[in-house]
Amino acid sequence: MSADHVAPPVLDRLERPVEDLRVSLTDRCNLRCTYCMPREMFGPDHAFLPRHDLLSFEELSRVLRAFVDLGVSKLRLTGGEPLLRTDLPDLIAMIAPLPGIEDIALTTNGILLPRLAEPLVEAGLKRVTISLDALDDETFRAVADTPLSVDAVLAGVQAAIDAGLSPVKVNAVLQRGVNDHQLEDLAGWARDTGVTLRFIEFMDVGTTNGWQRERVVPADEGQARIHARWPIEPVAPERQGEVAERFQYLDGAGTVGIVASVTRPFCRTCVRARLSAVGELYTCLFASKGHDLRALVRGGATDTELRDAIASVWRARTDRASELRSEGGLTGERVEMSYIGG
Ligand code: SAM
Ligand code: SF4
Ligand code: SF4
Repeated sequence: MSADHVAPPVLDRLERPVEDLRVSLTDRCNLRCTYCMPREMFGPDHAFLPRHDLLSFEELSRVLRAFVDLGVSKLRLTGGEPLLRTDLPDLIAMIAPLPGIEDIALTTNGILLPRLAEPLVEAGLKRVTISLDALDDETFRAVADTPLSVDAVLAGVQAAIDAGLSPVKVNAVLQRGVNDHQLEDLAGWARDTGVTLRFIEFMDVGTTNGWQRERVVPADEGQARIHARWPIEPVAPERQGEVAERFQYLDGAGTVGIVASVTRPFCRTCVRARLSAVGELYTCLFASKGHDLRALVRGGATDTELRDAIASVWRARTDRASELRSEGGLTGERVEMSYIGG
């Protein structure tokens, strides 16, 4: 569909358009964060997806074009660890020029950024989000279940800054009794380094990470602790549907965000779709099953058929899992975050 034939937005059953697409590029990862890919479940015998099952970059570009035609303007490339697809700059170069795509973001653990930051920028990537849950080696190693040290991630942060990626955001998932003592250190480091930090409440994604509500550090508490050290005040969201609540430091040292997925769910404004590495469309992070788009792509469907299939899944969408959790708790099967893309 060309730009002068823009269709009306496709709305789901709760009148939400589809605007963001999170694309998982692989279910593999070079870390084993206990809250995401616990080694007991993702050990040496785990059956990761075979390479030929993953969408090729050509197939992916075609699926992305269909989403763009339906209103998606923002892409987030994630995983698993997206930088394990070391030819990622080729994908960026293919999708960055697509008309209708206004923003491409990448979420990574940062470890391979020293090698890839520059080629990614040359290919057209503008910004990056790096996950870092602790600044001391002992806590980092316990959370990420790795012999690597924090310096490996910090080198990635520096490589991103040096390559000109802007903004560089850093995500930290806080768990009580595990790394919540790092909150002030992380905030202070981010202020000094000039990166934008966002604290994320520990979520019950998937069914293998041993989630317990007691381990969630509620946004209110995180906010109060930051405020006690460096006074902050709320600022307006950068755009509608933004998941992070933003606060600015009154001393002018930038902003800090909190993603309160558990204690202040934001399903009402959720405009995000997710695509697994094998091309399944998920309409919620907590969905139990996806809709197979790869079968359509590999089965010879036309662009119109592909677009119509996505639109009909979206129109039927009623998801509001985080609100339901607040009302009574989530039950049943849920796909793992490393598979669906965080
Ligand atoms: N490997 C990349 C990374 O770690 O940035 C991208 C994929 S990871 C699944 C995406 C984001 O999801 C990370 O920031 C990670 O901390 C977050 N995440 C994973 N499991 C989570 C959980 N149970 N609760 C909250 N956030 C989680
Ligand atoms: Fe890997 Fe990211 Fe999950 Fe950690 S959070 S295990 S780095 S996919
Ligand atoms: Fe969106 Fe589902 Fe998260 Fe609610 S629980 S904000 S519908 S992804």
